[in-house]
Amino acid sequence: MTSTPPVTSADRLLKLARAARLQRSAAAAPIEPVERGGPLALSFAQQRLWFLEQLGGLGDTYHVPTRLRLGRELDRAALRRALEAMVARHEALRTTFVEVEGEPVQRIVPVEESRFHLLEHDLGEHPDGVAELHRLGAEEVSAPFDLEHGPLIRGRLIRMAADDHFLLLTMHHIVSDGWSMGVLTRELGTLYAAFCRGEENPLPPLPIQYADYAAWQRKWVTGEVLRQQAEYWKTTLSGVPGLLELPTDRPRPARQSHAGTTATVEFDEALTAGLSSLARRHGTTLYMTVLAGWAVVLGRLSGQDDVVVGTASANRGRAEIEGLIGFFINTLALRVDLAGSPTVAELLEQVRTRSLGAQQNQDIPLEQVVELVQPGRSLAHTPLFQVMVTWHHASEYRRELLGPGRVGVGAPSPSTAKFDLSLSLGEVGGRIAGSVTYATALFEHATVERWLGYLRRVLEQMAADDARAVDRLALLDTAERRLVLQEWNRADAELPRTCVHERFEAQVARTPDAVALIFEDHSLTYAELNARANRLAHHLRGRGVGPDVRVAVCIERSPELIVAFLAVLKSGGAYVPLDPGDPEDRLRHMLDDGAPAALLVHAGTAARFASETLPVIDLDADAGEWAGESASNPAREDVGLTLGHLAYVIYTSGSTGRPKGVMVEHRALANVMGWMGEAWPLGAHDVVLQKTPVSFDASARELFPPLLAGARMVIARPGGHRDPAYLVETIRREGVTTLHFVPTMLQFLLEEPGIEQCASIARVVCGGEALPAALARRARELLPHAELHNVYGPTEAAVDVTWLPCPADAAGPHVSIGRPMANCRAYFLDRTGEPAPAGVVGELYLGGAQVARGYLGRAALTAERFVPDPFGGEPGARLYRTGDLGRWREESALVRECVSAEVDPEETNSRTNALTHSRTAVIEFLGRNDFQVKVRGFRIELGEIEARLREHGGVREAAVIAREDGAG
Ligand code: AMP
Ligand code: MG
Repeated sequence: MTSTPPVTSADRLLKLARAARLQRSAAAAPIEPVERGGPLALSFAQQRLWFLEQLGGLGDTYHVPTRLRLGRELDRAALRRALEAMVARHEALRTTFVEVEGEPVQRIVPVEESRFHLLEHDLGEHPDGVAELHRLGAEEVSAPFDLEHGPLIRGRLIRMAADDHFLLLTMHHIVSDGWSMGVLTRELGTLYAAFCRGEENPLPPLPIQYADYAAWQRKWVTGEVLRQQAEYWKTTLSGVPGLLELPTDRPRPARQSHAGTTATVEFDEALTAGLSSLARRHGTTLYMTVLAGWAVVLGRLSGQDDVVVGTASANRGRAEIEGLIGFFINTLALRVDLAGSPTVAELLEQVRTRSLGAQQNQDIPLEQVVELVQPGRSLAHTPLFQVMVTWHHASEYRRELLGPGRVGVGAPSPSTAKFDLSLSLGEVGGRIAGSVTYATALFEHATVERWLGYLRRVLEQMAADDARAVDRLALLDTAERRLVLQEWNRADAELPRTCVHERFEAQVARTPDAVALIFEDHSLTYAELNARANRLAHHLRGRGVGPDVRVAVCIERSPELIVAFLAVLKSGGAYVPLDPGDPEDRLRHMLDDGAPAALLVHAGTAARFASETLPVIDLDADAGEWAGESASNPAREDVGLTLGHLAYVIYTSGSTGRPKGVMVEHRALANVMGWMGEAWPLGAHDVVLQKTPVSFDASARELFPPLLAGARMVIARPGGHRDPAYLVETIRREGVTTLHFVPTMLQFLLEEPGIEQCASIARVVCGGEALPAALARRARELLPHAELHNVYGPTEAAVDVTWLPCPADAAGPHVSIGRPMANCRAYFLDRTGEPAPAGVVGELYLGGAQVARGYLGRAALTAERFVPDPFGGEPGARLYRTGDLGRWREESALVRECVSAEVDPEETNSRTNALTHSRTAVIEFLGRNDFQVKVRGFRIELGEIEARLREHGGVREAAVIAREDGAG
């Protein structure tokens, strides 16, 4: 069901459909005139529209307008006579709708009582005739119709000059359709020409009228026919998704808005010819071919491979009704299955078969199909499909009207949209052309234009190669590829040249006497901390620790923990942090799998490793062994350390049952810490709370930045990170300025009494889980002086890779994760590894300086998750495949485009002031594509839990599901 521009199906489809229909309905009775005495039924389509109008609120959505330009002297009397003759000839144009006992019936006004309502305007002298013409045009289209009293056709004749007139005609859709508009203009032309010449009405009378068709439909489309067709629709559409989830520019209003406008589209002769030839080779129409391409685009934009579009069927398959004006057009749901990556040829075959199937079962009105299929209804969108595709016959409209002379025909562009998107095309003069009407509540003009560009590119590739899998058809042009791959990833900065512990050493030289650590009631200065770390480092070197040698560290939160990490780094080794709170067999696995050269413990943990076979070094009991070592920094040259060596190995949950060690190199750690130092500068007055368990890589944010900047680190007591009251007290006592939290823990902290008195807090950094916007707002309220930042990053890309300083008015369910940090790149790729367009969901792949070396001892898993970087990274560069889903979300900032002087001066003039988008974007995080969950920031593969459950004798199969209600 569509009003403008006029719609029919293509010739070939019509012939096929007609043949199919003849076969099927050979036994069906011909349409014959019925008694005009009794009440006349409405057709199904009319009844549906009548009900809709009774509900109200449709405005001019179902007005069918057209505009004819009559470019010469006009015989106004002949024109009026021709219009009257049309009304006399077509009962539909004299029909009104009245309610009788709750049911609508058609009432046909006798010829003698009917006349054509034509308003005349003379703009010949008008100072701004064109503007006035548009104003009158808008007024004409939007003026209401009265279904009960009629008339349901009207017009205006506007004289611009003696030889220039516009005839605006508007009908209500309940008595017409696009095809009818063609009948109207054609017959009007014939009549006018005859009347001008003083001849009589040359048109043969119509054998039947619309009311006869309606009666026939009511009689014929019943019983077995209905049952069979119902079966067809139920089978064909069973399980369709309720909504095509296009990436809208604005959130979908709870109640569908019908505000709309159009963008035009035209494909050149070469492409049109290419598509015609493709269509010929595959026995499809141009319509089906373009529709197939559009379905591909819609599937990619939505990420759905089950796409339903509405198609308009002219429904003029019977010769008796071809010449009638009336509401025949039928909307058919066409389901396109893109699953399994069909080739272009296969997709065309599918669309052809399904179009014909739909045609053959088109007697059941859409409304009943919706009832049968029960796709899930919502006030927010149309049921069953939200995208319409129609095809119109140029030949029906671009014909000479009213004899020779300058004639133009056009439908004024509508200001309403029945659907999210309606693509309406036809072939005119060897080119496919038409428009897209779109819902302005959902889409920006630029977005729709861009999508039309995708359609053009997809069609070009289809025409060029019908053996290509549709998944492989590229949507993006070079400019947009560059935008999403490069411009939005423009975060190049100088790469780090020193390791984090070297930066610490430089800080020690600057502020040796400043307090570096505070733990309970004692503290260490920078010089003291460095000296202790150096002695242990020299000792470790003596025991064989060097580049890429792993040293496990299992120490409770205390100064010894920091000494241990620094010592391992200084000795050239990589630390493997073990959380003393972890269960025994998890620690056991990490020691076996990590095969460290040594294990560092202290008094609090030593007993647990008493029977350990690998060298255990107790920082309390054994300290005497290195008391005599040098307190000076080991030289990098002696150690042989480079930025390509490992800084740490951190274990994360593994889906096959055992945690896997992520190998992170110095370059990565130095890069992220360098970025943090610049983005969140710390000074001597800053106090950072260290409370994150060090088995999380996020702990690096608390460990290094203060020590590289001369700030103070306050170490929370063991277990303190789980105790909000203790944290609030510590923050207040120590004047903590910088805090790092996973959102769930921040939530607990904000609920703690006294938090709002923690005025020292200047910065809160959130990461590890999606940050709810409501939580961000709450943090702002309670801590109005604190900045809030959201950071994102997997262990496999060193701590964090993207960042957003949270705006005061964070909207949406979750806060965006912002943009890439220095030397980091984020790519959203589709399932073929191609970049997804802006706004389209893809899997997030991370590139740049922070990508980890891989998983320790897991070559296959490493190869699976760390893939070659095809987007211009360094040779050998890899991307980490996160399993996270997300997309670039554009911030629509309208700026004036400055056009460079090199452009053709004439063009420049017209474009200089053009408003265009300067396209900037932030990343929206949209969950996982697998079974990894976060529990209070702790990364868990459900598969790991399942595997562990299965290890228990009594458990044969296990399935773990995560609930988000926090009840677990
Ligand atoms: P981890 O390796 O423990 O840092 O966990 C990394 C995973 O946590 C990511 O792949 C995301 O799934 C999730 N994650 C980390 N930071 C955020 C964030 N700011 N918003 C949403 N999810 C996050
Ligand atoms: Mg992280």
